[in-house]
Amino acid sequence: MTVCVVGAGAAGLSCAYELKSAGQDVVLLEAASRAGGKIGSVRQGGFLMENAALGLLDREGDLAELCARLKLTPVPADPSAHERFAVRHGVLHQAPEGPGSALGTGLLSFGEKLSLLGEPFRKAAPRDDETIHEFFQRRFGAAGAFAGDLMQLGVYAGDPERLELASCFPSLAAFERARGSVIKGAMAEGKARKASGRARPRLSSFANGMQELTEALAQAVGDSLRLDTPVRAVARTASGYTLTLGDGSTQACTDLVLTLPAPAMASLLKPLDDRLGALLSQLEAAPITVVRLAYPESAFARPPRGFGVLAPGRPMIGLLLPSRLWSGRAPDGTVLLSALVGGARARESAALDDKTLLALVTSELQQWFGLEQSVQPLFADLKRWSEAIPQPVRGHRARVAEIDKSASDLGHLHLGGAWLHGVSVLDCLRDGRRIARALSART
Ligand SMILES: Cc1cc2nc3c(=O)[nH]c(=O)nc-3n(C[C@H](O)[C@H](O)[C@H](O)COP(=O)(O)OP(=O)(O)OC[C@H]3O[C@@H](n4cnc5c(N)ncnc54)[C@H](O)[C@@H]3O)c2cc1C
Repeated sequence: MTVCVVGAGAAGLSCAYELKSAGQDVVLLEAASRAGGKIGSVRQGGFLMENAALGLLDREGDLAELCARLKLTPVPADPSAHERFAVRHGVLHQAPEGPGSALGTGLLSFGEKLSLLGEPFRKAAPRDDETIHEFFQRRFGAAGAFAGDLMQLGVYAGDPERLELASCFPSLAAFERARGSVIKGAMAEGKARKASGRARPRLSSFANGMQELTEALAQAVGDSLRLDTPVRAVARTASGYTLTLGDGSTQACTDLVLTLPAPAMASLLKPLDDRLGALLSQLEAAPITVVRLAYPESAFARPPRGFGVLAPGRPMIGLLLPSRLWSGRAPDGTVLLSALVGGARARESAALDDKTLLALVTSELQQWFGLEQSVQPLFADLKRWSEAIPQPVRGHRARVAEIDKSASDLGHLHLGGAWLHGVSVLDCLRDGRRIARALSART
């Protein structure tokens, strides 16, 4: 039995690694000249920058377990990472850490704060395909629209009026189902965590950035990984599948795992199953351009601190501060910034030309942190993602269930990755492991 895994992003690497660890015959095919997919860390002029994912929040202990197996040491972010900021009506405020501290924030009006207090007493009325906007308004009243937007923006860069709550934040839906209230559910979970002696999860990365993780996985997969090997076509055979590769050669396998962006999966699978291709084509993603800048600390009248800033409704939706979170990411006396422009509601902003994007970001930095008008950045570059974050919009769970069923009906076909089963790196690692375990259990 040979398993072909296509796509060496987090999901594909994890799947191939688990299969190899279980003694399975596996080939991992990757179009690019390096493994890691969206995950990539770049060193330049004393700065260490990320192309996409900045860190991981190990809620379930998966990362710790994987790192122990790979002999990697995750590095927790500076404790100041709990300090987060948000912009509303053009003004920068410290963001509350939870509903408890929300009463003191300048982000919400008096009436909005009052409406938060009513959450535990509002009747539970869960609906399967409710959007984030609908759920938050129903549960939190007047404060709901802004609170829901803030929560989704940092993960999905999406449109809360389209994103499906149960796909994006299943734990919130579960709190309402179990306790009739999000606040009561969150409090019960906090109590259970304390009672079991578990610490609060902390954001982590690695000394050489996120790429350390994907490089360790790629190394463990060894010569089963074939780089610069795009899969161009897939055909069903009596004993499995035959893949046509970029150079025209073929690769046979008994089982096929695709962990690709949905448009790439759609074009490979459409000739085998028209309906499956059409369902995959319906999935969508939001674009983001990451603008990376560095300045001397002294260039700011009010130097940025903490994790960063979220700015719902603006073209620059967020700002991350990697050099505040981990040491060794910028030379002493300098600040490295990573601005995120675009998202589902500002698609055209992500596509602006380099000069306009830099002007947009520096103008926000001047307003929020008093960046000196005439100062030039020590360094500036951009990373553009036209399909940055997949968007689990209304109907996503039902659509994915249908996609998984169609793949299973075709036989010996497994689909995974960020477009289907969760966008975070840990979701992708878990998805790869789930598929590998299902395949290993069969033999
Ligand atoms: C700006 C940004 C910030 C983010 N921040 C975070 C964060 O802080 N924390 C977090 O957990 N997540 C974050 N994410 C999300 C996370 O990085 C991604 O969702 C995740 O890495 C996707 O992994 P994947 O394996 O699904 O796919 P990908 O990384 O997209 O990998 C797919 C692979 O398939 C390959 N491929 C495509 N077509 C073919 C083909 N025909 N043949 C062979 N190979 C092919 C590609 O080259 C690629 O290597 C962020 C994403 C972005 C864009």
